[in-house]
Amino acid sequence: MTQIISKCMLLACITAIATSCLNKTKALVDVTNYKCITESNSNNSPVGEGISKLTDNDPYSKFLTFSNTSVVEFQVLKKCTLSRYSIVSGGDEESRDPNKWTLEASNDCTSWTLIDTQENIKFSERNQSLEFTIADAGSYKFFRLNLSTKDSDILQISEVELWGDWDSSDENPIALFSSDKKSFFNNGEVKFTNHSEKADKHQWYFEGGTPETSTETNPTVTYKSHGKYAVQLIAGNNELKDTITLNDYVVVKREGAWDQFQYPKTNFVNKTLGGNGDFYNELVPQPIKLINEVCLDVCKTLYRSVDEINTLEILDYSIEDIETISAKGGNPPHINIFFSSSYLMKKKDAMSNDELISEIVGVLYHELTHGYQYSPKGAGSYKQGTDFFGFLEGTADYVRYKAGYSNLSYRKTGGHWNDGYKTTAFFIDWLHTKDADFVYKLNQTALTIIPWSWEKATQEILSSSVSDLWEEYQKYLKPTVAVKGNGSPNQSERNT
Ligand SMILES: [Zn+2]
Repeated sequence: MTQIISKCMLLACITAIATSCLNKTKALVDVTNYKCITESNSNNSPVGEGISKLTDNDPYSKFLTFSNTSVVEFQVLKKCTLSRYSIVSGGDEESRDPNKWTLEASNDCTSWTLIDTQENIKFSERNQSLEFTIADAGSYKFFRLNLSTKDSDILQISEVELWGDWDSSDENPIALFSSDKKSFFNNGEVKFTNHSEKADKHQWYFEGGTPETSTETNPTVTYKSHGKYAVQLIAGNNELKDTITLNDYVVVKREGAWDQFQYPKTNFVNKTLGGNGDFYNELVPQPIKLINEVCLDVCKTLYRSVDEINTLEILDYSIEDIETISAKGGNPPHINIFFSSSYLMKKKDAMSNDELISEIVGVLYHELTHGYQYSPKGAGSYKQGTDFFGFLEGTADYVRYKAGYSNLSYRKTGGHWNDGYKTTAFFIDWLHTKDADFVYKLNQTALTIIPWSWEKATQEILSSSVSDLWEEYQKYLKPTVAVKGNGSPNQSERNT
């Protein structure tokens, strides 16, 4: 498709807008979800933390500037009256939160009307959304936030939302649509629903679909081959029109297609050759071959298709004399993993070579799961006891167990579903008695549930509360397990 313009609007907005369109009493809309030009006077944001993050509907991404003030200007699609707005704090360093600001409005960018002012504001939490009401009933097309912080030379905000009503006297149309589904396997039919305003003519373009174009109001389109496809709608009246283009809107996945699996480019370095590292080489003469086999197997456990994988392009793998057995750093597409050669030497007398190889492979399964799994957003930090920790470490040990590098003799009663490692892994394993695709669905919920929690994930997958499931699991364990413990010890010391 050649007419792809830009991602002025985010996919996530559509659902929210669609809901508000369907309400009988017209709900307020976040006008930043439509075509909205957002600019700031700060040109020093780090990569990935630019001004676009302010209106991307992701409260876990942020705008950051190396300055204690910032002027942010919004040009919205057409004139509107704001009733309220919200500001979401960043994910770290509360001193960078704005503590005071003004909000001004204009129709010519020359004369500005003050519509709200705030001072001594304190965000009590990270990623916290604070809402402020606006009394001014004027209709405007431009808005300007003049923000400052007093405790830092850095200012950051995750999100700004401007809620209001479009000015009904403004005849400019708004192109808008939703669909009954966006992502599916093999082939399927997608029903599109038009939500455009001030428009009686509709021209649709469906990349990869049949039909490829339509002038119907609510067309149904068939997709037959795998790929990511753009959808464009031009909606208008006799004089004016508006265009919305959403790239990669429809995703048709292949079932499996594992022959298309892309192995990471692995940079393997044994840093302790001539010392403890020699023993690693003896046990694993073909390290990259092993890594590739484990990568593919991890993905086959976590995903149903190569089209879903959280792609890992580069893997730096090193053998080092470090106290921790193994750990992973970085995030896809580029991660690093180290493995301790001194640990191997320490275990050499107590374990056979086959047992040591199993340990190396098991740890590799665990760490590579971290490389490929999705990361839940808004589920706390990497700290034992958080939903985030339980998800990451539980899934990683589950994948290791499924591959045959751990066994049920380590399963204990007690503990908590958020303990991570084996405690959570065996719980995840038991949850497969409720749904054979549980770990696949669990990993997918990290994309769909924001903020993520075990409660929301088990409700979505199994329509049950996580605490009820945990209780049932404990009852199931009791007659079969005699030993009581906290359920978290490892056969080896813990890797992260
Ligand atoms: Zn781990």
